Amino acid sequence: MSDDNNNTERKRPNILVTGTPGVGKTATASLIAEKIGLKHINVGEVIKQHKCYEGHDAELDTHILDEDKLLDLMENMFQDCADENVGIVADYHSCELFPERWFDLVLVLRTSTENLFDRLTDREYSEKKRSENLEAEIMQVVLEEARESYDLEIVQEVQSNTVEDMESNVERCRVWMEQWIANNS
Ligand code: ADP
Repeated sequence: MSDDNNNTERKRPNILVTGTPGVGKTATASLIAEKIGLKHINVGEVIKQHKCYEGHDAELDTHILDEDKLLDLMENMFQDCADENVGIVADYHSCELFPERWFDLVLVLRTSTENLFDRLTDREYSEKKRSENLEAEIMQVVLEEARESYDLEIVQEVQSNTVEDMESNVERCRVWMEQWIANNS
């Protein structure tokens, strides 16, 4: 196995789509994958499928993430894709846990309070969980996390309120990827 899972040696770029739950990460990432030919990794699904849990937090009623298990699994996926010259678009509601070298673009989706309220209500989140997430979006917690964890040049904050926003975000990634490939070939 070659050791080219590194942003200076890969032939195709990797994108991370991040943001508060409900901003549209999975919908956007799957459209990016479809339209510009990247492999979609829905990190939340990987966690569930492979039971990357260390236990359960009774107070918060959530699983405790086994980060080492998740990162080992993902490292293999990234390596396999790099070996096959396939780019990845991953989506997750957090971004600081991943090695910086995995990603060439970090897209932080933002949504208005009204839209997020409606989407989280449709998802039947509890009032507590909904208000925690609304507050996190208002306080731009994930955007700050991205700015602290990655080179500022690769962090892009974009709106995700409408279907037109989603299409324009996909187009932005398409143009960006063409440029990345031209610069790295
Ligand atoms: P996340 O992965 O960030 O939790 P999802 O992709 O599951 O969010 O989207 C949550 C809901 O909002 C879905 O019903 C999705 O269709 C809708 N949605 C997401 N992004 C947009 C957008 N830009 N415009 C309109 N609806 C959207």
